Amino acid sequence: MPTHTHRPPAVTALRPALVGKLNERQVLRVLQARGPLSRAEVARASGLSPPTVSKAAASLLRGGLLEEAAAPGPGGRGRPAPKLRLATATAQVLGVAVDAGHCEVMAAGLDGTPQAEVVAVPTPGTYPALLDALEAAARGLMARPGVATLGVGVSLPGLVDYRKGCGVLSPNVPMTDGHGPARDLSARLGVPGVLLQELHALCLAERHYGLARGMDDFAVLDVGTGVGLAVMTGGRLLTGHSGLAGELGHVTVVPDGGRSCGCGNRGCLETVASDTALAARASEKLGRAVDVDEVVDLLKAGKVDLAAELAEAAKYLGVGVAAVVNLFNPATLFVHSRLFGAADGLFEAVVARAGRSALPPSFADCRVVRGQGSQRQGAVAAAVQHLTDAVAGVG
Ligand SMILES: [Zn+2]
Repeated sequence: MPTHTHRPPAVTALRPALVGKLNERQVLRVLQARGPLSRAEVARASGLSPPTVSKAAASLLRGGLLEEAAAPGPGGRGRPAPKLRLATATAQVLGVAVDAGHCEVMAAGLDGTPQAEVVAVPTPGTYPALLDALEAAARGLMARPGVATLGVGVSLPGLVDYRKGCGVLSPNVPMTDGHGPARDLSARLGVPGVLLQELHALCLAERHYGLARGMDDFAVLDVGTGVGLAVMTGGRLLTGHSGLAGELGHVTVVPDGGRSCGCGNRGCLETVASDTALAARASEKLGRAVDVDEVVDLLKAGKVDLAAELAEAAKYLGVGVAAVVNLFNPATLFVHSRLFGAADGLFEAVVARAGRSALPPSFADCRVVRGQGSQRQGAVAAAVQHLTDAVAGVG
């Protein structure tokens, strides 16, 4: 989570209140990693004493971050010890994914379990209308009786400045430039908000709820409206000086005569290998404007032959994958694209191309797999992390 700008101050003598908060955070971490546990099990797993665990748990129960569930135990030998778990029946966080065509809003328990149907809203044309639409969707999910909403995470495409908490340059959703949708939604909804870049969201989603659980060195490449990259190295997101690192989609790959890109440049990777690029090629071929949703439907139904266009996209994507493998040496590279589900052999073609282009030792050391997580799950993970960090006052 790229909240590197707010480090805890150096502490020489820990105040009792802070020690208590750190113990609470430790209890949360154990429950996050292991699922529901009794107080005695938390004590064993955390190394804290049973009275310390009880005190921390009482505070977290009062704060609504934990809840207690009676565990089914062996019958006839008294009541089984109740299990502590992250609040899921009584509390939720919201995850918002902003994107060019439509935005998604989901509600999840603090353990990431989805609590209701994902709400999809068409992305409006202006920033105030976007806030209105997101607020309405969020309020619908907040209306569940007996469930407290504790925070909202917002995933944003394009460049995000974490120091200022706002979007900087989003070629595909330019209305968000200069705005802080997490801050603005937070003010409207009256709950804490946290903003994160959409590839960072995918990284968190894979790490918390997907295939990257327990991994410290991996990368996520997302091929959607644009092409983005996030790199987790040594357990930390590589953010760059201002959080702007990872813009693989705007690396020039067709230096002369390339197609124009939303960023103002020409010949960027995402002009030849993205949903948008493929939809443009398909539109040229069919003689009418089609968006990527329709392209996916046509491909699945076998109603359009885009073999040459997909081969070109695979070639450039393979080069992109090879660049990531050479530059960052990830143990696993997750590649996300809805096109993989519509075009048989596309993922394999990308990997084969990458294998021919990357340095052999680096490629041999890297698993390239299809990603599973979503930006909205990552926004949920960020909101939960924001809450647990806030417990110890270091968010
Ligand atoms: Zn560009």
